[in-house]
Amino acid sequence: MATKDISREKSAQLFEKAKNYFPGGVNSPVRAFKSVYGSPLFIERGDGSRLWDADNNEFIDFCCSWGPLILGHNNPEIREAVQAQLGKGLSFGAPTRLENELADLILTHNKYIEKIRFVSSGTEAVMSAIRLARGYTNRSKIVKFEGCYHGHSDSLLVKAGSGLVTFGETSSAGVPKAFADETIVIALNDKEALEKVFSDFKDQIATVIIEGIPANNGLLIQDKEYIQFLRKITKDNGALLIFDEVITGFRLGFEGAAKYYDIQPDILTYGKIIGGGMPVGAYGASSEIMSNISPDGNVYQAGTLSGNPVAMAAGIAALRILSQPGFYEKLEQTTQAFVNEIQSFITEKQLDVKIFTVGSIFWFAFATSERIQRADQIDPNSMLYYKKMHRELLNRGIYFGPSGYEVGFISAAHTEADLATALAAIKDSLLIAF
Ligand code: PLP
Repeated sequence: MATKDISREKSAQLFEKAKNYFPGGVNSPVRAFKSVYGSPLFIERGDGSRLWDADNNEFIDFCCSWGPLILGHNNPEIREAVQAQLGKGLSFGAPTRLENELADLILTHNKYIEKIRFVSSGTEAVMSAIRLARGYTNRSKIVKFEGCYHGHSDSLLVKAGSGLVTFGETSSAGVPKAFADETIVIALNDKEALEKVFSDFKDQIATVIIEGIPANNGLLIQDKEYIQFLRKITKDNGALLIFDEVITGFRLGFEGAAKYYDIQPDILTYGKIIGGGMPVGAYGASSEIMSNISPDGNVYQAGTLSGNPVAMAAGIAALRILSQPGFYEKLEQTTQAFVNEIQSFITEKQLDVKIFTVGSIFWFAFATSERIQRADQIDPNSMLYYKKMHRELLNRGIYFGPSGYEVGFISAAHTEADLATALAAIKDSLLIAF
């Protein structure tokens, strides 16, 4: 039976106030709770697996700030590292030892890149990677995939995943036609579409960009054979392959989706986890490709707060923990067991929903019996089930992202007891949703 809704009085008041300041009352669109029930919850604090909102409702959090918090909220090591840096200064606009340390941690454990450049967000990382690919190849067209999100820079906001599709659009206004014309969008997991694009635009394609494992429009796990074909066809045609690992990087291990698919992309982009919860992005490639970046090369890219010392300190503390042997194995086993239990329940109750998982990421696909690998396989009407489930989960103290196109994350802070509580809530909520 549907439950009584949690109190949202204070959050609702804060949201009314926020609407006076921000478009839609938020600083990032999907936070507005437009496609789920009610108004957004304003969060007061987080600790471990838990979040507390302005009305003092407590939740077990599976959104994890959209991915960065693989160690949960308020991790003591990260907190102490940040506090220690706060006493030394917030920003210098000059190199620091901390940048070396974070780069060393990354490069020692990741054989897919030889040099790295830190920026302040995933958007910046991808935007810079695209410029690098264009500068390196001296070509202008880029190919992206329908449903893949790569941040909000102009050339990439074409058929771009959850944040847009949640609001019934797939591309953004304000992107000049001339820019959009340089972006060719094709369907995922479709070899013929790739062959056609290279035959139609031979010698014009600078780069093909793909999310390591597309996770912004549902979790669209690609066939290994397809990704290997993508690697081959880009190489054969002199185009660079960019693997956008802003979600998958350091989530599936230090070597992310590149290792998962066993391919060497040309440029890789990172974000989220490498900042330990602070704003950081990065892109990396071979030394040869990276030598084209300024000041050595003529592809310009810069940033006032790039390599910010507080963010670097948080990232170092996080990656030190993640680099300990067995970290990822344990997290994946925990996730797999959790997902298996949900899937068994779904099967037993014959519910029209499937749960997909990779690493410590999971996603519910409603109203389907198929394996979903392309954005157009998702029926927008199926999001009504998510909306119902989301409401019931909140009422049971479980916080999922406020859009059915978004994936959920398990963190190392989720205890067995948390997952058992979540499992019971998910079972109840699924039954009510149908
Ligand atoms: N690339 C991918 C795959 C992402 O998931 C995101 C954000 O969710 C971005 C790029 C943009 O990162 P940011 O939001 O830090 O700008």
